[in-house]
Amino acid sequence: AIQHLAAPDHWRSIELISDLHLQPELPHTVASWQRYLQASTADAIFMLGDLFEAWVGDDALNEPGSFEAECAQTLRQARAKRSLFFMHGNRDFLIGAQFAQRSGMQLLSDPTCLEFTGQRWLLSHGDALCVDDTDYQRFRAVARSPAWQQQILAQPLAQRRQLAGSIRNESEARKMREVITADVDSAATLEWLQRANAPTLIHGHTHRPATHALDATHQRVVLTDWDTDLPTPRAEVLRIDAQGMQRIALDAYLAQPPAPRG
Ligand code: MN
Repeated sequence: AIQHLAAPDHWRSIELISDLHLQPELPHTVASWQRYLQASTADAIFMLGDLFEAWVGDDALNEPGSFEAECAQTLRQARAKRSLFFMHGNRDFLIGAQFAQRSGMQLLSDPTCLEFTGQRWLLSHGDALCVDDTDYQRFRAVARSPAWQQQILAQPLAQRRQLAGSIRNESEARKMREVITADVDSAATLEWLQRANAPTLIHGHTHRPATHALDATHQRVVLTDWDTDLPTPRAEVLRIDAQGMQRIALDAYLAQPPAPRG
């Protein structure tokens, strides 16, 4: 089933980002995200998964001063000026209704078909389309099941933090992030696009930003991941308005936020 979302008539521009892998260990990336949310001139921001490196459960919000509570606050401030949408990735799939409500984000199913500028845009994290990685698809089916999630969330928060922490020190995290070797399957993508009657799929997950023509009328647009803690920082915003689609480097964006057009 494909969720449909019709953009309100007053929207002039939207922006899409994904795979920020936010974590306390990468403070520059967190700061970049905060600056971007404050500077954005879009009517809506779509965060297409792996916003967080790990999510241990919405009850982390109840810990005063926690990283999760701080991020909810950042989102809440941004929400005062524009709509925020979030789709789960393979890292933050435990984000639930409580966090969404606290931060003012609207949760989207994967995939979601957005109608905006008289066009249909199919949005996904992208991991479900990496069909060749059968081990991962097996894990994904389990990890997305309510029974498994309830079992995890029934563990004490401290224990869940410990588990997440054990894979979250910086070098480990970087290693984990390079592991995605499977790529999005073209045939599966075309099938989704035809079902949604949409010309364009926008997704993240693979950390391999590119625009791939699938045939004469269908394309796949891949978002970049963010890491501004690296010596060569990486961060980009995909902006869509009536004139089309444009990738904007975060530095350029912050230096001169684009004026609403159309
Ligand atoms: Mn991912």
